Amino acid sequence: LIYLDNSASTRPHPECLEAYTKAASDYYANPASLHQAGGASEKLLEKARTRVMNLLGVKQGTIVFTSGATEANNHVFTGTSENRTRPGHAILTAVEHPSVKEAAAKLERKGWELTWIYPDDQGRIRPEDVEDEVTGKTALVSVMHVNNETGTIHPVEEIGKRLRRYPGVRFHVDGVQGIGKVPLSLEEAGIDYYSLSAHKMHGLKQSGILYVRSPETLAPLLHGGAQEKGLRAGTADPAAAAAFARALRMAKEEEEKKRRHLRGMMIQLEAELEKDDSCRLHRSPERAPHILSLSVPGRKPETVVHAMAEEGIILSTTSACSSKHSDRSAVLDAWGLPPSWSASSLRISLSTENTQKDIETFLHAWKRVIPSLAVSG
Ligand code: PLP
Repeated sequence: LIYLDNSASTRPHPECLEAYTKAASDYYANPASLHQAGGASEKLLEKARTRVMNLLGVKQGTIVFTSGATEANNHVFTGTSENRTRPGHAILTAVEHPSVKEAAAKLERKGWELTWIYPDDQGRIRPEDVEDEVTGKTALVSVMHVNNETGTIHPVEEIGKRLRRYPGVRFHVDGVQGIGKVPLSLEEAGIDYYSLSAHKMHGLKQSGILYVRSPETLAPLLHGGAQEKGLRAGTADPAAAAAFARALRMAKEEEEKKRRHLRGMMIQLEAELEKDDSCRLHRSPERAPHILSLSVPGRKPETVVHAMAEEGIILSTTSACSSKHSDRSAVLDAWGLPPSWSASSLRISLSTENTQKDIETFLHAWKRVIPSLAVSG
């Protein structure tokens, strides 16, 4: 099997699985319990929290361990709104992940005002467009670091620098697809909230974090006990936290070497597909090395996915979160591309576990499979 759907999920690394099983069997006591065993669980949990802070290079604030980035993203929006007495204004891009868009839409139903920033036809978001929309009512700006469908790198550092001029505005970055792939300094970018997901970096599913620079700015999403510094009720899972810290450490290890490996595969992939008249590549000038978005106009993307799967090659239509709901790419629609392209889009996403040989095998299969599929319309 050649797995090229790593932006949907990655294979858990044996080290993460081991970190989980070892911690889960040795530290099963409730970290909130007073006894010694509880204390040991708490120690492990806090060690993981400190590790994550260090790996992210942040000194101030805290890490909330969550059930994934969907929860982290929801927490930012709901937690901001519940921390205020009156509805405010939020700015976000039109290409955010559904977990950001839908969390924002919920605020709109509660009287918040939303401003959507659209990219140009190459996926570029202009920092000045974001700044221009800031008003006295603006409480939150949310811009993802790397887009999950196209790999576009958004200028979050520049946006963050501009937002420093507005002390009442908090800045959230969904870092899920960028971590370990594109360098980012949270401190320099002035990021207040940052979401990550373990299963996109060879960790476990239902595990993520929300970095919160000033905990007093956010109400909890889940109410109950005072766990996670009062930001998330419910018994914490020290094993999940330890496995998360391990996944993050691995994602940050030898980053440049891994990026070179990914870039090498991507260059080969792009160079061959560029010559192919049956497809169209959607590439932003600034893009991550592991995601390629392309369209096969006139062909059904799900037919391509199934036909390639028959050859043992796994890729996806748009993103996993939207592929069951819509046959169009909301991201390519936001770029303003023709409907025939957004309705026939595919995503190839690599991980460091892929090899040059995988790319060659993929290209061979592609050249055989695509011409054999009927063209409609
Ligand atoms: N944000 C982005 C950019 C994603 O790609 C994903 C994954 O689909 C998520 C958030 C949601 O992450 P999780 O699966 O941990 O809820």
